[in-house]
Amino acid sequence: MLNQGDKKDSFDFTFLDRDKINYRNYHERLMGLLRVGGVAVFDNTLWGGTVAMHGDDILEWRISVRQAMIELNEVKEEEVHLIATMANRVVAKSTSPSKGLLQSNELYQYVLETTVYPREPKPLEELRSITTSHPRAMMGTAPDAGQMISMLLKVVGAKRTIEIGVFTGYSLLLTALTIPDDGKIIAVDVDRDAYEMGLSVIKKAGVKHKINFIQSEALPILDQLLEDKENEGTFDFGFVDADKVNYWNYHERLMKLLKVGGIAAYDNTLWGGSVAMPEEEIAEWMRPGRQFTIQFNELLAQDRRVDICLAPLGDGITICRRIC
Ligand code: SAH
Ligand code: CA
Repeated sequence: MLNQGDKKDSFDFTFLDRDKINYRNYHERLMGLLRVGGVAVFDNTLWGGTVAMHGDDILEWRISVRQAMIELNEVKEEEVHLIATMANRVVAKSTSPSKGLLQSNELYQYVLETTVYPREPKPLEELRSITTSHPRAMMGTAPDAGQMISMLLKVVGAKRTIEIGVFTGYSLLLTALTIPDDGKIIAVDVDRDAYEMGLSVIKKAGVKHKINFIQSEALPILDQLLEDKENEGTFDFGFVDADKVNYWNYHERLMKLLKVGGIAAYDNTLWGGSVAMPEEEIAEWMRPGRQFTIQFNELLAQDRRVDICLAPLGDGITICRRIC
């Protein structure tokens, strides 16, 4: 196909799911066949978790493919935007959201180190480092989930977005860095101090002009936006990462504010993996959040206004695309 000139740069999408040994070779060809902005999805890129295990612990038949995966994951060409690989949905064993939900910390580190950190924009890295001094640093968006959000923003070509739950601004800054120069973000949080902690990085990155930060409870702000009919169906993207008890209320508002085809992403929808554990086994403080999350996930699954996908990245992130 590459030799037929008219096929070059012409494909929108590819899914690859065979013959892992050739993934590198397929990737090379696809960089010629896909259009700029096109997407390639490689399946099984964690290869049963073996990519982060020692050679001795791995069954013989898995070794050669494991090597091919490791090499593929190390491809770092600047022209491709990667997202954390998330094959093999595995049992959530961790109760701490900061460790991610994969089968081991080693595997989570592997994803971060091969795919996320090498491509993380410098200002985000700096913001993450400033945030470590905050007593609630673990609330910051997981960088692997962040990479997914940035990918989604690019795929939908987002320009107008809403951010509920800013904290020190990791997801806010990554949105601001991703949308075009005349893009706009309405960002709401009750806590201005946390936002101000990251503000110098946002300013230095030259993206402050895209952000309208509002210190408030989020729900009244969404209602206020909806009072003006002109705002209906005008937003491309919403990221919700604040009080879980209101997730469904936020969703109801976003279904009016988003364009058809627009995306709402909800963070922490696996709640440290606790959604699939018996209540007695989890810490007391996590129980209310677990209950709200379980209800929210059930409601979304029945909601015909959206396509949904629950990606087990970070602490679980549910992506909804408004379809009517
Ligand atoms: N997305 C952020 C993390 C958000 S943490 C990041 O990437 O770092 C959750 C935030 O939600 C906290 O900063 C908290 O102050 C805010 N919050 C909690 N309840 C809220 C409410 N009712 N309205 C608006 N913000 C709220
Ligand atoms: Ca979160």
